[in-house]
Amino acid sequence: MSKVLGGSSVLNVMLHVRGNRKDYDHWEQLGNPGWDYKSVLPYFKKSEDIRIEELKNSPYHNTGGHLTVEHFRYRTPITNYLIKAGQDMGYDIVDINGPTQTGFTFSQATIRNGLRCSTAKAFLRSASKRTNLHVSVLSTAEKILTAHGVQFRVGSKLHKVNANREIILSAGAIQSPQLLMVSGIGPKDHLKEMGIPLVQDAPGVGENLQDHVMIDGMTYSVDPPKDCMNNMPFTYDFVKTITPDTITEFAVNCTGTLYAMPFGDAMGFINSKYANKSADYPDLSITLGSSGNSIAGGVFKQRANKKIGQYSNTYRTTSYLPRPRSRGYIKLRSKDVHEHPIIVPNYFQDPHDLDVLVKKLYRLSSSVYIPQCSSLPFPSDDYWRCHVRFFSMTTYHPCGTCKMGPANDSMAVVDSRLKVHGISGLRVIDASIMPNIVSGNINAPTIMIAEKAADLIKEDSLCLKTPPAILLPEDPKVMLKSG
Ligand SMILES: Cc1cc2nc3c(=O)[nH]c(=O)nc-3n(C[C@H](O)[C@H](O)[C@H](O)COP(=O)(O)OP(=O)(O)OC[C@H]3O[C@@H](n4cnc5c(N)ncnc54)[C@H](O)[C@@H]3O)c2cc1C
Repeated sequence: MSKVLGGSSVLNVMLHVRGNRKDYDHWEQLGNPGWDYKSVLPYFKKSEDIRIEELKNSPYHNTGGHLTVEHFRYRTPITNYLIKAGQDMGYDIVDINGPTQTGFTFSQATIRNGLRCSTAKAFLRSASKRTNLHVSVLSTAEKILTAHGVQFRVGSKLHKVNANREIILSAGAIQSPQLLMVSGIGPKDHLKEMGIPLVQDAPGVGENLQDHVMIDGMTYSVDPPKDCMNNMPFTYDFVKTITPDTITEFAVNCTGTLYAMPFGDAMGFINSKYANKSADYPDLSITLGSSGNSIAGGVFKQRANKKIGQYSNTYRTTSYLPRPRSRGYIKLRSKDVHEHPIIVPNYFQDPHDLDVLVKKLYRLSSSVYIPQCSSLPFPSDDYWRCHVRFFSMTTYHPCGTCKMGPANDSMAVVDSRLKVHGISGLRVIDASIMPNIVSGNINAPTIMIAEKAADLIKEDSLCLKTPPAILLPEDPKVMLKSG
């Protein structure tokens, strides 16, 4: 997705969430040895440099890793009230990345000294002086030519690099399956339809697409409590975010409103009526934001209408399904990798996904009413179904499109060592390998996958006496220069 070193970790909301231990135990039960929670926890910890004081001595956390985790440095008073509201609903304040997941928390985030800690900053920067690392920027991989070569383009020039040992494909859940398919590894009928010579029939490539379908649009205005009427804004006020004073605060004192993330100050994992409450496997995630900027036209409309100042105290909640049952897919639009593939998320293909969100809306916002669903009685299940469909959107967590699984699962693309079934010298290491989406935002799990994969690669390379055989034909028409 994101065309930058570090991928989406450079522009995401920075929420640091590992998911539920049962997610990983389930991965293992699906035939993936070494991926149960007990086995992956050390890799979550390995990356981590936790800088949240009360978690530094937790056996679930670590200090000294490359990936720094902090709380957002600035938050407005509403966030405390939102957490209190969670407690009033009967939930505890917990470390959602610790022993239990159910409850509410001030968000943990991939931040260093208040500023974003992307994977490029965390991992690449520290390795940048290594002589065995070369990064070709502004480059697009076009094809995996052989198990030992990649064709890529820099501007108008085509290049090729050869791998002595293996190729690692980490183009994310949209482009990894796309690159495999344009290289001839994918569902054979689809490749035939696209006119791509078949290298390996892999029916699972591009299938099993999962995402956390999210409901937005839950925006509320709120009057600050009387004991809170000091100079500090009660909720996050975008209009007052960038002023000479806030810039000075940011640059000189390293504090102030520019250190906020008003889309995700706090979060909770809660149970719908369908969940087994004693299982600590919550089926709803709720993110609490200290600004509901869409009220009163939002800051941009107010600016356009020159009505700045009418801004009122607002907040927002967004919710997603941690474990949706619906599955989508990715198909090629053409054999040209520069053409965007077709992405069909298939949200609500399984009606259970819609039902869980509808029940959640009853509980959290039974007074919200939108005119777009006005033909339906309010409140009613039909009304809320319409509401959910109207406001549903991606959480930008696509995954699962090159899923990991054993050889007897015909839809599995990689094995538990992340090697592509049937092809030697090729691994996929990114969010696409998740067999099932985990119950949390997927940046931390993707980094865990990479940490574990690094060990798998090292282990295998120690055992590797001869390089793997070349399996895929090179394209003789392409003029290639060694990269
Ligand atoms: C707006 C947004 C908000 C998000 N918020 C959060 C959050 O708060 N918390 C969280 O946990 N997760 C969040 N996520 C999701 C999380 O960031 C991603 O799931 C994670 O980064 C996936 O990592 P990846 O390595 O699988 O893929 P990506 O991050 O997509 O990285 C793939 C990389 O491959 C490159 N690439 C692709 N194709 C080619 C090609 N042909 N040639 C060369 N390079 C190529 C891309 O440019 C990119 O750099 C968010 C995502 C987005 C987009």
